Amino acid sequence: MAELQSVEAALAALLRDVATTPPEPLPCDEAAGRVLAEAIEARLDVPAFDNSAMDGYALHHRDAGKRLAVSQRIAAGSPATPLAPGTCARIFTGGEIPPGADCVVMQERVEVEADLAAIPPDIPAGDNVRRRGRDVASGDLLLPAGERLEAAALGHLAGQGITEVVVRRRPRVALLSTGDEIVDPGQPLAAGQIYNSNRAMLRRLLERFGAELTRVASIPDDPVGTGETLRAAALEADLVISTGGVSVGEEDHVKAALASLGQLDLWRLAIRPGKPLALGRLPGREGREVRFVGLPGNPVSCFVGAWLFLRPLLGALQGCPALAHLPCLPARAEFSTRTGPRRHYMRVGLEFGRDGIVARAFRDQNSGVLSSCISADALAVIPAESRVEPGDPVDCLWLRVD
Ligand code: AMP
Ligand code: MG
Repeated sequence: MAELQSVEAALAALLRDVATTPPEPLPCDEAAGRVLAEAIEARLDVPAFDNSAMDGYALHHRDAGKRLAVSQRIAAGSPATPLAPGTCARIFTGGEIPPGADCVVMQERVEVEADLAAIPPDIPAGDNVRRRGRDVASGDLLLPAGERLEAAALGHLAGQGITEVVVRRRPRVALLSTGDEIVDPGQPLAAGQIYNSNRAMLRRLLERFGAELTRVASIPDDPVGTGETLRAAALEADLVISTGGVSVGEEDHVKAALASLGQLDLWRLAIRPGKPLALGRLPGREGREVRFVGLPGNPVSCFVGAWLFLRPLLGALQGCPALAHLPCLPARAEFSTRTGPRRHYMRVGLEFGRDGIVARAFRDQNSGVLSSCISADALAVIPAESRVEPGDPVDCLWLRVD
């Protein structure tokens, strides 16, 4: 029996020479979740001017400890005039620090009597002042290429007055199902048939990883139809994915069609679940090469394979390093298990306690049991030929990410 291969080797083969999708301009309002195709330089200082972090009184710190006349009132949005020496300014949060002032005393610490403000002593220069350019200085790198635009990044862009960005086109993905026994939900089920659960699951995962599904179909059970479906899918996609039928020796038309249309490598990975994996290339539009990934049919294998292989691949297609690796959390096992020659990715729930993270394994880790994935916060990585007892440390790949 041939040696089983490692996840790392398969991943390296999968990610070799992946070309990013082309850039496209997009209004910021539509860019949530998209990946920047180019770095963005700040054009403005943020804050744009020194301003007050408090409602209170602005003064020069040498006047601390005195009773000062209030010579102007500065609300956020209204301009300040130079501060008359020996006076203070009533100021509100976000209001511009007037030239000549260098600190702000919060209003709770100031007694006002007969139009004079009694300022407490020892107010340091700079107190409660938000300096111009403290967050971002004009010319700074605002966001790097490859940044996935989430809430704070979108806020940062808006803070610069930017309304449009250049992002990577969402990778176009064709999702194909194999298996004579697989039936679409909504259709009647005959004896021996099962509903297609992988499609709905992968559709959701792929969208979370940034993909746009261009074709969702079942592969017909004949060689000509299979070839046609694959060829057509590759012409409109950056990536073609199939589920089922990748076991070595299994009779199925996908492997034959791929081998004749493009290129196909069958991998037997030293992992559980998801031992068989097919990686290939298909001819796409204008001589481009389109990636093909064939995941095993077992729903749990599909789930794990999507996290281990499809997420990094979609990251590479979008030029987004954050999608390359899942965060790895150190936990203590609350279960015991042992592995043979294959590394085990166990579906676990994590509990974050004062003494650290505890990983609880779903009771049935069989690769057909999709319920094990529903409350899986993480995949606990159990190395090959090892044994885990309760309390032992386990690395957990965190799945509550996009
Ligand atoms: P295969 O990899 O084709 O040998 O399939 C392994 C197991 O997964 C079989 O029990 C299939 O019936 C099942 N399976 C394959 N595709 C799907 C699917 N799309 N949804 C649910 N189960 C599937
Ligand atoms: Mg099958």
